Amino acid sequence: MDPETERGRALLEGARLVAVVSHERPDGDAVGSMLGLVLALRRRGQQAVPVLAGGLPPRYDFLPGAVDTRADVPAEADLLVAVDCAELSRTGIPAEQLRRAVGVNVDHHPTNSRFGHVNLVEPSAVATAQILYSLSPALGLPVDREIATNYLAGIVSDTIGFRTPNVSPAVLRLAAELESLADSLPRIYDLLISRRSFAAARYWGAGLSRLERRGPLVWASLTLEDRLAAGYSGSDDADLINLLGTIDGADLSLIFIEQGGGQVKVSWRSRNGMDVSRLALAFGGGGHEPAAGATVAGEMREVVERVVEVTLKALHQRGPGVA
Ligand code: 5GP
Ligand code: MN
Repeated sequence: MDPETERGRALLEGARLVAVVSHERPDGDAVGSMLGLVLALRRRGQQAVPVLAGGLPPRYDFLPGAVDTRADVPAEADLLVAVDCAELSRTGIPAEQLRRAVGVNVDHHPTNSRFGHVNLVEPSAVATAQILYSLSPALGLPVDREIATNYLAGIVSDTIGFRTPNVSPAVLRLAAELESLADSLPRIYDLLISRRSFAAARYWGAGLSRLERRGPLVWASLTLEDRLAAGYSGSDDADLINLLGTIDGADLSLIFIEQGGGQVKVSWRSRNGMDVSRLALAFGGGGHEPAAGATVAGEMREVVERVVEVTLKALHQRGPGVA
């Protein structure tokens, strides 16, 4: 067995109470990985709790184990595990609760800063849930119907329903294995990919009314006022970025979400092989080659101008037709 995996197995086995944390504004992979691992630890008789600093967004309530999600790390926890977090700060958990160092860091972001004692980081994986499922036998972790449902949700979510270019026959085989255990693909697909609230659709409308394009770059912005007018309760883009990516000729898409307090959340998506994680890193964020994000200080107009300019510059430097 790979020595890092072996060390991870030993840490997990030796813990009395494991707190499994993930990132703020959690996506389906963050939640599915977190809940899947918590349930697997419990199935083998250990205590484990899922922790999200901002709590669990209601759209994930249907996932097994979701009700147990708490907003703080219990003081008695003797092992911290971070899943799907490129950096510890992405958890949003206050420093005083993070006095215990992260024992195991499981992630698939290439920009992961390897902040754990043990780092199970695999950038070739389409989702953190893929890593957890693949390592389950080596880590001695079971996979039952509920655990498989969570891991499948992670894979479906991060591949936007098997639509991203990194979906290989091997990924589909893995998903098929999970589906044979979970029998929940249509429901996961519907609840995590297709369905959205009326408020989210109105919020999209506000963003789309401000859709802009310069060459292969398409962008939209969402203001606090839009959020309020639409009655949308999240601080994210309600996945509007995925729609921008379907626009013909939009090799690169950007979305700006006003956060209040003079901060703007920026998301980049690329469809032409351009590495947008480098752009995000330059703005203090990170992510993957085709999908990255950052939170940038400044007023909306100024941030839009600055980020669009830098992104266009990177696009031009790269030149046309370069793979
Ligand atoms: P999104 O744009 O959907 O928030 O995120 C796209 C990808 O970039 C995700 O893999 C996410 O984890 C990563 N990402 C988004 N924002 C940040 C950030 O502020 N810092 C880092 N390190 N990664 C981010
Ligand atoms: Mn992920």
